[in-house]
Amino acid sequence: MSNVIGIDLGTTHSLCAVFRESGPVLIPNSHGGYLTPSVVGMLESGEIVVGSAAKELRVTHPERTASCFKRYMGSDRKIQVGPKTFQPYELSSLVLKSLVADAENFLGEEVTEAVITVPAYFHDHQRQATKIAGELAGLRVRRIINEPTAAALVYGFHARDQERQLCVIDLGGGTFDVTVMEVFEGTLEIRSTAGESMLGGEDFTDRIVSAVLHHEKLQLEIAELKQPLRVARLRVECEQAKRKLTAEEVVRIRLPDLDGSIPENPKEFRVDRQTFARLSETLMKRISTPIDRALRDASLSPGEIDDVLLVGGATRMPVLQDYVRSYFGKPAIMEHNPDEVVALGAAIQAALIENDAAVNDLVMTDVCPFTLGVEIAKEFGGQTTAGYFYPILHRNSTIPISREEVFYTVSPNQKQVEVRVYQGDARKIVDNIALGSLSVKDIAPGPVGQPIHIRFTYDLNGLLEVEAYSAGGKKHRTVLTNHVHGLNEDQIRDAVERLQALKIYPRENLEYQKLARFCERMLGEINRDERKQLDRALDYFEEAMASCDKEECERAERVVRTVLEELGIEYFENDDE
Ligand code: ADP
Ligand code: MG
Repeated sequence: MSNVIGIDLGTTHSLCAVFRESGPVLIPNSHGGYLTPSVVGMLESGEIVVGSAAKELRVTHPERTASCFKRYMGSDRKIQVGPKTFQPYELSSLVLKSLVADAENFLGEEVTEAVITVPAYFHDHQRQATKIAGELAGLRVRRIINEPTAAALVYGFHARDQERQLCVIDLGGGTFDVTVMEVFEGTLEIRSTAGESMLGGEDFTDRIVSAVLHHEKLQLEIAELKQPLRVARLRVECEQAKRKLTAEEVVRIRLPDLDGSIPENPKEFRVDRQTFARLSETLMKRISTPIDRALRDASLSPGEIDDVLLVGGATRMPVLQDYVRSYFGKPAIMEHNPDEVVALGAAIQAALIENDAAVNDLVMTDVCPFTLGVEIAKEFGGQTTAGYFYPILHRNSTIPISREEVFYTVSPNQKQVEVRVYQGDARKIVDNIALGSLSVKDIAPGPVGQPIHIRFTYDLNGLLEVEAYSAGGKKHRTVLTNHVHGLNEDQIRDAVERLQALKIYPRENLEYQKLARFCERMLGEINRDERKQLDRALDYFEEAMASCDKEECERAERVVRTVLEELGIEYFENDDE
């Protein structure tokens, strides 16, 4: 049995799974749950914590935490965590490291290989950054696969003999993906995929946060800078409210003070389902575009879809489910837990790579989500104008795919051509995304019209390789992303050293740390007398943790839990609840 783990590296939660004889199984984290918040924090001691403890810390010390960094994968954005700055892929690698530690603890052996999932709509830079994050975490990344494809694999694994057209709708914390696929006799054929990488459940939360702040005549972006503690606490309130609205008609949101604490008689905001629907109206409008597009690319009408599968925590929202029901004319299926299904699928993919006998009769094909091409010049009335886009690989072509096209020089004795690569569907390159470029410098002298061959190869990981050469010239080749946003060896070494220099908080004490940070958060929500009591218990607990004496820690933990109970504060053991 292989130990290649499947990892769902999510915007808000990450989790991993492994394939066993009976199928894929989820791997628990140190809190006994499966969902690890994708949050990185730095404790006062300078040690790094990942997951639930960091999520608690985010409320009381937002400046020492980072979250939602998946949204910036593949960009050069720097993220500050306490005194240190990180690249998004470094933060992701810390999350991956923590998952690997959980997996090693669960399996009782070293874990060195993984399949990592990404939103189908992630472009090259984002995929490459994900791969780098895996490598920095000490993993050999066997495959990068699309999240909806992974979800569909779970479905295909369980319903192998059916013939159906499926549409997977994946609304996570930060991204939205739609995938249309066909299942027949164990073959899973992805037909089309579309999405938006800047639309997710967190945006719905932000709409509520904004609405509350609006009452206070504040704008979210400004409040976030000027009143970070208040916004951090308010966001937790709004997140809880959003989730409660899934089951309840009306919720109340308490407005924190400037210092981020909740006063004894806080100002309250009432939000009902209708208000929430109104607040999310413009977000919901953006949901339909990728669905329309995926169906059109698959040449199917909504009525021709047999099953709609919902993936991602945010698909629990009634507004989303109502929308899906009216769009497809039937309710969606949520047979598997929408938070867990992607990781389970990644583990099935790992088994497929390892040729596990249990998945022998399962075959899968995937597609390239974007149109990829190069810049060309066009001739109008004897004038050549550059800046036009020429597609080489069309979106939703089945992968792996390799295609060569021939282009021609535009001036006599032209020695050089710059092959500029773009992604998108617009006619002009300015409206598409630049992926990088490649020079062909050895064109033999000759008249206009010397051929230049350009080959695009899109592999199973969704990474693009571009090759270009002139007649008799040598082949110039680049995996584009390495060229643009990837790291060279020095940079990788540097990143490894920087990460190694970090002190990671020991996994075996993470549970204590989470409890302590939870108490710290609660201090801001209770009255003065209660506060005194909890504060005293927390001091005792912190002291015990610092002493590293196991018995002392256990004793202090019991005291803290008793105080919480006396104060009527509910403590969730993990983030699955
Ligand atoms: P990701 O894969 O991007 O990390 P998840 O699939 O874990 O995302 O989904 C996280 C999102 O789902 C968050 O925005 C969270 O608020 C939302 N979510 C989770 N549970 C619920 C619920 N019961 N009602 C509404 N939204 C929810
Ligand atoms: Mg997800």
